[in-house]
Amino acid sequence: MTERTFIAIKPDGVKRNLIGRIITRFEEKGYKIIGLKLLLPTIEHAEKHYAEHKGKPFYPRLIKYITSGPIVAMVIEGPNVIAESRKMMGATKPENADAGTIRFEYAVSQEFNIIHGSDSPQSAEREIAIYFKEDEICSNWTTMLEMLMNEEQKSL
Ligand code: UDP
Ligand code: MG
Repeated sequence: MTERTFIAIKPDGVKRNLIGRIITRFEEKGYKIIGLKLLLPTIEHAEKHYAEHKGKPFYPRLIKYITSGPIVAMVIEGPNVIAESRKMMGATKPENADAGTIRFEYAVSQEFNIIHGSDSPQSAEREIAIYFKEDEICSNWTTMLEMLMNEEQKSL
């Protein structure tokens, strides 16, 4: 099923110049990037984004971390993209992340783990709305992969 998810390259990923490498993984997979911007999250963005973690011991540092520099906020569309992009990211703790995942490849700490991705359809909808206005999302176009798949389906 085609879904939308919210992905963010966190401030440590931006500061380490990993923007291109991370975006490339989603492009190469065949997903469609329909929202993309660099922004410095406000405390309000961060508190809304991480509301589920309020009260946990790591919460104050998490808010400082996510507001410590620009993030690359993205809306990405594709079949089962919510669960699949979580697989591409790997586990929260890099030492538990499978080899080949973004966190395994680039992160060494559970706290500074490079990337965020929505964990359910409800989170995706909620998180997209925190960072994007509806008119900042461009979905009315066709990727080359979609074109080729449409052609192939016609010829079957
Ligand atoms: N985090 C942390 N310490 C913890 C758990 C999480 O600093 O013990 C941070 C980490 O940056 C993580 C974010 O809080 O990515 C959100 O935690 P969550 O459990 O939702 O992990 P995620 O969904 O990012 O894998
Ligand atoms: Mg989470």
